[in-house]
Amino acid sequence: MQPDSMRITRITVWQMDLPLSQPYYLSGGRLRFDRLDSTFVRIDTDAGLSGWGEACPWGHTYLPAHGPGVRAGIETLAPALIGLDPRGIDHLNAVMDVTLPAHPYVKSAVDIAAWDIFGQAAGMPVWQCLGGGGNGGISGGESSSATPVAVNSSISTGTPDEMIALIRAASADGYRTHSAKIGGSDPALDIARMDAISAALPAGENVTFDVNRAWQPATAISVLNSVASRDWVEQPCETLDQCATVAARVPQPIMLDECMHTLQDHLDAWRLGACQGVKVKPNRLGGLTRARQVRDLGVALGWQMHIEDVGGSALADTAAIHLAASTPDANRLASWLCHYHLSSDPVPGQGARNHGGFATPPSTPGLGVRPDEDRLGTPVAIYE
Ligand code: MG
Repeated sequence: MQPDSMRITRITVWQMDLPLSQPYYLSGGRLRFDRLDSTFVRIDTDAGLSGWGEACPWGHTYLPAHGPGVRAGIETLAPALIGLDPRGIDHLNAVMDVTLPAHPYVKSAVDIAAWDIFGQAAGMPVWQCLGGGGNGGISGGESSSATPVAVNSSISTGTPDEMIALIRAASADGYRTHSAKIGGSDPALDIARMDAISAALPAGENVTFDVNRAWQPATAISVLNSVASRDWVEQPCETLDQCATVAARVPQPIMLDECMHTLQDHLDAWRLGACQGVKVKPNRLGGLTRARQVRDLGVALGWQMHIEDVGGSALADTAAIHLAASTPDANRLASWLCHYHLSSDPVPGQGARNHGGFATPPSTPGLGVRPDEDRLGTPVAIYE
């Protein structure tokens, strides 16, 4: 039974460095990552329910998002959030947008924690609250467990041989879809990477070539018309207009990621014919609420989407996998799990994990993931 009233009484914030198990290179090697600055948020209520969220930009060079900025932004938001009913999630987002316009990456942990509470109050897992039908399928009747979501690897930029070795290691862990990070100052090397990876890819596996905005449009058009691959190509250039120029002149389907921050960006992409699919990432967009809006638009437009978070532990991954599991198969490609790359686990063993190439979100009410507070250490801020 839901309580008649529920108020946010306390917001507790932790910071944790999440070390990567090995250095990771993007965008032709110009961006290197060794650790991620993650923020964990617990929202407590006067009804005895607590919800958890995590906001973890992938470093501070990948997106206009900043680990310390998450904490600074929550300090600004917190006074406006204390006393709100966390189950009124659209209202909570409206209050956040009035209190601090834009800065979506600041808001995702708060929004995810509110969904955790909403699910617990409703007695349903988040994937079901977001509209998922479970693994019974359209004609399968009732189901009490979520649809398993295919997971994809993320292959750090390197030489063709280094990248093929990483793909083989991921294949051994069950991964059948790979996101190979290319792009750089040497178009001939990118052509060599694409050709070598395509030739080496085992039967039944597929690849997305993620350029991470490294190319100028003319380079993208030249490279993509020089390779045999007809696999997805992601974020070839920096801006939406540049990507649209490329999309009109190459044979591969285009996926957009870093240039997409608002629902308006997605409407613009559709109008420009700039893509056939998008990455849907709660931390980039502002949380599950905004990510769901984009997901629903994508379903309506016939886009195919990778639904995953920007970074973080299995907590952030699990929130995104709840959304992925509630998305129609036809519109959902594979989802990446950031925690696969980490050497620490603040939510030990919990949440959506890779089992033979698939991850399934919990079916307990809410998010189904609670960090080990001993591993998080001393909170950096408590607002009440
Ligand atoms: Mg990407």
